[in-house]
Amino acid sequence: MLQAIQIFGVKIHRVTMDQAVDAVTGFLHEGGPHQVITADSSMLVMARRDEELRRTINDAALVTPDSFGVTWAARRLGRPLPERVTGVDLAERLCRRCASAGRRVFFLGAAPGVAEEAAARMAGRYPGLHVVGTRHGFFRAEEEEGIVAEIAASGAELLLVALGIPRQEKWIARHLSRLGVSAAIGVGGTLDVFSGRVARAPAWAQRGNVEWLYRLARNPRKIQKVKTLPVLVWMTLAAMARSDGG
Ligand code: UDP
Repeated sequence: MLQAIQIFGVKIHRVTMDQAVDAVTGFLHEGGPHQVITADSSMLVMARRDEELRRTINDAALVTPDSFGVTWAARRLGRPLPERVTGVDLAERLCRRCASAGRRVFFLGAAPGVAEEAAARMAGRYPGLHVVGTRHGFFRAEEEEGIVAEIAASGAELLLVALGIPRQEKWIARHLSRLGVSAAIGVGGTLDVFSGRVARAPAWAQRGNVEWLYRLARNPRKIQKVKTLPVLVWMTLAAMARSDGG
């Protein structure tokens, strides 16, 4: 049984990266639908006012802390989490596992061409990786049923969905029971990174917990997302002052 903490109305599991990889591997082995969420600061801030997102997080089989803001807030509120388990790292570790275990993977999302490039590069990096389908993430509502059917027909066991927060989480929750996959994860910009089109933040930025600053410098449109970090800090300080732990 995975242990979870509650913070700002949502649950987050107390897992290390290794435990998260083992948990998802267990879902793949077990079969049946499981949603995995990697929660960052922006998601916690959005969930405060978004009932559907909150419900989706609380119903998920596994929720990991994706960003420094989340582990910082949990620590300040007296419910420390072991470490960050980011979407891009978790997805990469799972691709490696799926390659060695012969499990089928589907990449959905990002701009046209990106998912295919990501599949080709990951298959090169992890020989034996079986990406059974790819589909870009710029589709109309009327196309959704066709996409769900395509994923179900592909026989994929693991689905990576890169549509951005919170759309990817809600999309998975709405369609999970019909996708036929054993685990589906919202992975944000991961396919852009896998394809090589976007570089990951350098190690110094990851170690110093300033990846967000690096991303902002490269893409000023990320300001909306970065602006949620001070909101989370404020929510944490307010909860500490009320001593209700969020
Ligand atoms: N995206 C998409 N369809 C859309 C909007 C965005 O497939 O309608 C993709 C976008 O190309 C990118 C990913 O979703 O690959 C979102 O990445 P980002 O790093 O912005 O994710 P977040 O910060 O929300 O996790």
